[in-house]
Amino acid sequence: VPMSTSKLDEWVDELSRIGGDGRAVNRFAWTPHQIQACDWLVRQLQELGLEAEVDSAGNVVGRWQSGEGKAVLIGSHLDTVPDGGRFDGALGVLSALETVRRLKEDGFEPGRPLWLAAFNDEEGTRFGTSMFGSEAFVGTDLSHLEDRVDRDGTTLSEAMKSCGFDFDTIPRACRIEHIGCYLELHIEQGPRMQDRNLDLAVVSGIVGLRGYRVTLEGQTNHAGTTPMRQRRDALVGASQVVLALRQAALTAADVTANVGRIQVEPGGTNVVPGKAVLHLDVRASAGPQFRQITSKLEDIVHEAARAEGLTADIAVIYAHEPTAMDEGLSSVLREEMERSALAWEDLASGAGHDAQVLAKHVPSAMLFVPSRDGISHAPAEYTTPEQREPGVKILTEVVRRLCSSDIPRARRSDPNGGEAV
Ligand SMILES: [Zn+2]
Repeated sequence: VPMSTSKLDEWVDELSRIGGDGRAVNRFAWTPHQIQACDWLVRQLQELGLEAEVDSAGNVVGRWQSGEGKAVLIGSHLDTVPDGGRFDGALGVLSALETVRRLKEDGFEPGRPLWLAAFNDEEGTRFGTSMFGSEAFVGTDLSHLEDRVDRDGTTLSEAMKSCGFDFDTIPRACRIEHIGCYLELHIEQGPRMQDRNLDLAVVSGIVGLRGYRVTLEGQTNHAGTTPMRQRRDALVGASQVVLALRQAALTAADVTANVGRIQVEPGGTNVVPGKAVLHLDVRASAGPQFRQITSKLEDIVHEAARAEGLTADIAVIYAHEPTAMDEGLSSVLREEMERSALAWEDLASGAGHDAQVLAKHVPSAMLFVPSRDGISHAPAEYTTPEQREPGVKILTEVVRRLCSSDIPRARRSDPNGGEAV
């Protein structure tokens, strides 16, 4: 059995056992394992001398109240996808925790408050409510989600209640007015860093993503007696959507499209499917391409429905715009990487992150550490201890610097073309 080499590595192991079975990790919002992970983190933060609690949206917030002015916020998320790995989100939270531990150990006195957050439900696994916690933290109105249901028909509001939370108090989680800037370390979740032998990457921007539930309805009927030309087959319409959407993404630059789930009703071998429900995800990092694929998707669905004589309903389940990271804050990351002679590049993120929610309100930046073979959202997700260390080192140095001086003024280019702050 290899010995753990540092506190961070010990924490990675310890946290992976909460909701983990030695292979995969399953921690979803509003479940006992996620609550247990949050409580564990609160204890670690308190042991380091921070004020810490779980807020009304299920976020863990730790506060090192020192100095004056707005806080530097560091963090990520603790929830996972179904059968997820040990590093997505967790490594960002634990690196932030290790940053606090090292600064304390050094006797550092922050000139401004240093806060740590583990945002709840970044993945949106159970209710399709991705970035729920960070949205609550920045004060986004989430009241429309009250009756959102999971696969078992439990509403979000009921799920929160069963864990001791109250849907109506979510707005109390808004604390963005205390924050000066946000930094997030995350695993890359792709193969580019490994391919290019990079130690670290500075995230230039985060893709826009939109999730949909498309319901196609035709006519359930007998598979043997209904003439082929008279069928209104919802699955045939759904199949056209799958293929046309794939074609649309293939022929556009820098666009992805995915149909990850289809339910067919009534589901009999000898029955023409009367209903098909598709769950889709489309992404693009530039505004024009993002708008193009989202409008194309609607055309594709309506065209497939028309061709098969179906009705179509398109519901948007989640939506996040393409987001650039803050130039000034990213430059601080780059300077520290240069000073440490690390191999780094700027990379765009094809995954969504809490940083894209925070970026709408405060200067935000992200750094990536490598993912072995580019694998993530799977048990094989791995970042070696040697690959973790440069990330923690840079995070610690940048936090030290930001807590000792002014936070760079917001400077963010708008992926939609103009200049935005
Ligand atoms: Zn993540």
